[in-house]
Amino acid sequence: MARVLIIGCGGVASVAIHKCCQNSEVFEEIMIASRTVSKCDALKEKLEGKTKTKISTAKVDADKVEEVVALIKEFKPDAVLNLALPYQDLTIMDACVECKVPYIDTANYEAEDTNDPKWRAVYEKRCKELGFSAYFDYSWQWAYMDRFKQAGITGILGTGFDPGVTSVFTAYALKHYFDEIHTIDILDCNGGDHGYPFATNFNPEINLREVSAPGSYWEDGHWVEIPAMSIKREYDFEGVGMKDMYLLHHEEIESLAKNIPGVKRIRFFMTFGQSYLTHMKCLENVGMLSTVPIEFQGQQIVPIQFLKALLPDPASLGPRTVGKTNIGCIYTGVKDGKEKCIYIYNVCDHQECYKEVESQAISYTTGVPAMIGTMMVVTGLWNRPGVYTVEEFDPDPYMEALNKWGLPWKVVENPVLVD
Ligand code: NDP
Repeated sequence: MARVLIIGCGGVASVAIHKCCQNSEVFEEIMIASRTVSKCDALKEKLEGKTKTKISTAKVDADKVEEVVALIKEFKPDAVLNLALPYQDLTIMDACVECKVPYIDTANYEAEDTNDPKWRAVYEKRCKELGFSAYFDYSWQWAYMDRFKQAGITGILGTGFDPGVTSVFTAYALKHYFDEIHTIDILDCNGGDHGYPFATNFNPEINLREVSAPGSYWEDGHWVEIPAMSIKREYDFEGVGMKDMYLLHHEEIESLAKNIPGVKRIRFFMTFGQSYLTHMKCLENVGMLSTVPIEFQGQQIVPIQFLKALLPDPASLGPRTVGKTNIGCIYTGVKDGKEKCIYIYNVCDHQECYKEVESQAISYTTGVPAMIGTMMVVTGLWNRPGVYTVEEFDPDPYMEALNKWGLPWKVVENPVLVD
């Protein structure tokens, strides 16, 4: 039924592509295009013969709008699913506008070079105006609203798990359980153990930049920023047990604050073990998390990119990771004049994911919603010219698809709250 161009062929893309191939009725034909075409070819070879989906591959540098445009013109997809890095969001969106093709991604735009003076001026103005200092925010992509409307195309921002499913959970809670939601606590727990002293579960550069940044939350109409890892709580997660979790800045807080009327507070917590935190602090202290190039033996190197080369490839963690993830949201609010509280979450098992698609649960919980978000667009269920985050659409078909495609969820009334 649909032809989809998938850009990127890393951990998340590999799961999304497996899931598209399980869903051949919708994904009749896909093209996998990435910087390193050999990875695309290897995946194609693995999947061909086991799926009715027709697969082709191509090499593309998605930093170059003209290369993406040329590929879109050649393949003529019904939608482009961007599973490269957040650095490529804007160039791929530009190409989609030019070719009038819908756009879907899982992470909001982040500048690769945070020392670029042009980017820095906009960033510093935004830090002052909005009050949070993360390198990523939605303003860059929301600025495409009119261009997407004029082109008559839908843009879906952030259909991974968080952001993504957590925002769909919120739309679902608002539709079926609340008249008004007052507080949202997003809890992201990874109880998996890969046996390495230190490794990241997805792209190390993106992951370490996110985790080492100051935390922030939304309260009473404004951002409150705190030093990195300075708010810690404990929570007892189903399938995992008691874990320490830390308040982080996270992108869906920004869109939910805008789209959930009457919300008073939104926080995001992620679990980390002590070993991860100690390694990260040490690497940060010696400058290994820096994105500023340094001169080394006559060559320019970016410390965090060098570190990435040393760390285990997230895609290689699959076979050795055991345990579960538990990601969801706790909502408080009112329904029919009465106070109410619910928790919606998914528990996912690393080894089960590996058995199914040869990936650990972090890539799985992102890749499955990426396929589902794309399915919503190409089947016409979510079709609205402009640029939107997932909570702005009807959550019901997406929630149904989560149950069908491997991420079943639960609603629990009156859960234990986070202090
Ligand atoms: P990986 O690093 O594993 O994969 C990234 C892929 O993009 C690689 O195939 C890489 O190619 C390709 N790529 C990078 N630059 C370019 C370029 N200029 N042109 C073409 N291809 C390029 O990352 P992940 O799979 O872990 O993450 C993918 C996305 O998912 C990221 O944006 C990440 O932020 C997001 N994410 C979202 C989550 C959510 O819940 N919403 C959770 C986890 C991740 P090469 O092989 O040559 O390096």
